[in-house]
Amino acid sequence: VLRLDDVRKSFGNTQVLRGISFDIHQHEVVALLGPSGSGKSTLMKCVNLLEQVDDGQIWLGNTDITDPRADQDKIRARIGVVFQQFNLFPHMSVLRNVTLAAIKVHHWSKDRAETRAMELLERIGMRDKASAYPDQLSGGQQQRVAIARALMTDPELLLLDEITSALDPMLVGEVLNMVAELKAQGTTILMATHEMSFAHEAADRIVLLRHGVIAENGTPAEVMDESQDPETIEFFSHFR
Ligand code: ATP
Ligand code: MG
Repeated sequence: VLRLDDVRKSFGNTQVLRGISFDIHQHEVVALLGPSGSGKSTLMKCVNLLEQVDDGQIWLGNTDITDPRADQDKIRARIGVVFQQFNLFPHMSVLRNVTLAAIKVHHWSKDRAETRAMELLERIGMRDKASAYPDQLSGGQQQRVAIARALMTDPELLLLDEITSALDPMLVGEVLNMVAELKAQGTTILMATHEMSFAHEAADRIVLLRHGVIAENGTPAEVMDESQDPETIEFFSHFR
């Protein structure tokens, strides 16, 4: 589904990504881990075309999305994204939030968008909140709505960037449950997270970033339990 080939990205003199290569296969859940500032969000923004890579290629299926001639809106319709916070527009109802991009960016009819949105809201048990405003929902419900919105165009890949880190600890579980459910349905996911036990349990693979390169790429057991690399062991020791 996704292939990064020697991706490089600097901001000024800071080399954030110094040659990142890895693949994500269909139905795979990959957890992107690494210390704060290691470039997880930057990498995700490059995949979502919010940042331009300096060098290297990113392939989504057979499309080189780093090719400046690529159709950016079309590519964005193939990738769903949820960030840590500020995901919903406060002055718009849930239904409007979920349908907005499909209508404005992807030129869906209002009918088609609303039908699809209600289907997704039904699936996450929030059909009755369609006309509510974000501030009438809990943080966990808001993030579930944001995930529903990201799924509108049936994306090939879902990018989740620390979607639980702004949440009250009580609400983290319901959002992680939803991610587990998406995994069970076969959704392909790249998620940056600091929820190590969830990553261990739910991810098929762990990619650990450090100093702008991939320090580890393997199963949760290989990377989190069995790695002999002192820096890797050090990193995970903070979460035990
Ligand atoms: P966290 O776990 O805190 O979310 P992260 O791994 O997502 O961290 P990034 O947000 O990708 O890290 O940041 C990587 C580095 O790039 C940091 O040093 C950051 O200051 C820098 N950086 C990110 N975006 C920009 C930008 N737009 N301009 C300049 N520097 C940036
Ligand atoms: Mg980040």
